[in-house]
Amino acid sequence: RAKDDGAGQHRAYEQSLHAEAEERRQLEAALRFAIDRNELSLNFQPVVDSVGEHVVAFEALLRWNSTEHGFVSPAKFIPLAEDTRLIVPIGEWVMREACRQAVAWPDRLKVSVNVSGEQLLEPGFATTVVKALADSGLPARRLEVEVTESIFVRDAQVARQALEEIIALGCSVALDDFGTGYSSLGYLRAIRFSTIKVDRSFVQGAAQGSRESLAIIRAVVAMSDSLEMTTTAEGVETASEAAMIRDMGCTKIQGYYFGRPMPAAEALALAQRCLPGRAAA
Ligand code: C2E
Ligand code: MG
Ligand code: MG
Ligand code: MG
Repeated sequence: RAKDDGAGQHRAYEQSLHAEAEERRQLEAALRFAIDRNELSLNFQPVVDSVGEHVVAFEALLRWNSTEHGFVSPAKFIPLAEDTRLIVPIGEWVMREACRQAVAWPDRLKVSVNVSGEQLLEPGFATTVVKALADSGLPARRLEVEVTESIFVRDAQVARQALEEIIALGCSVALDDFGTGYSSLGYLRAIRFSTIKVDRSFVQGAAQGSRESLAIIRAVVAMSDSLEMTTTAEGVETASEAAMIRDMGCTKIQGYYFGRPMPAAEALALAQRCLPGRAAA
């Protein structure tokens, strides 16, 4: 009996693996045509100044509404796009679309674009940025590129060179999800990041009274201050979290409290209201 159960369990496990592989295969096939079928769009989430609470930037966040699969979470399709290198053409589409939208906003607002390692390490990356800026008319100083620490794992030297080219154009670079990856401080010495984005898990931890999370946020703020970088706290969901983060000296705040990721038309309307105060109000 025990042996039968073991074999049965093994079969069930194999079947679930098979189902997963099959789903991935179908998603990948659909993703290949997503750009041509106009299934991709960008949402924009406001980033606000922690003191005045006025909008200073929007982060572009990719959405995929698939004909066959409906809305697919970025947590699912971004890794798939990275594994298949589809992130290269998709990322180029994101860059162009983000610049095209941002050029309609007031000049003081920046747009942040997430860039994967696969994209950054592609030889023509800086050229695609130059083209997106030129074709849209967006000044380079209004574009911020967000990368995570993972870009340094595969080829740190090439990643660094690509970022230096972007900085030389006049763009800024933010270090996203800081603290969740291989937080080696060497990267902070090698590259002139303008912003460190403190991962949501620390903000949530601090909100729940974790002394470790609080201490880590304080340390990141102190370090970025002395390196003349700014800090953005991700995932701020309540007024008390916003107050806590501001009191700890984070420069900027991003999260559902100030505004969820929204379609381009809503972001434009919000950008044009231009009023200091809560973004969502
Ligand atoms: P990220 O760059 O760290 O983006 C922030 C994520 O946190 C977004 O998830 C956003 O919707 C979510 N978020 C913002 N505020 C809150 C909050 O207050 N509470 C909670 N619970 N979540 C909040 P999203 O849009 O699902 O994107 C997930 C990740 O997918 C992004 O994380 C980024 O790594 C990746 N991604 C999204 N768009 C692109 C893209 O165009 N290119 C690349 N390479 N990656 C992208
Ligand atoms: Mg990001
Ligand atoms: Mg992030
Ligand atoms: Mg994050």
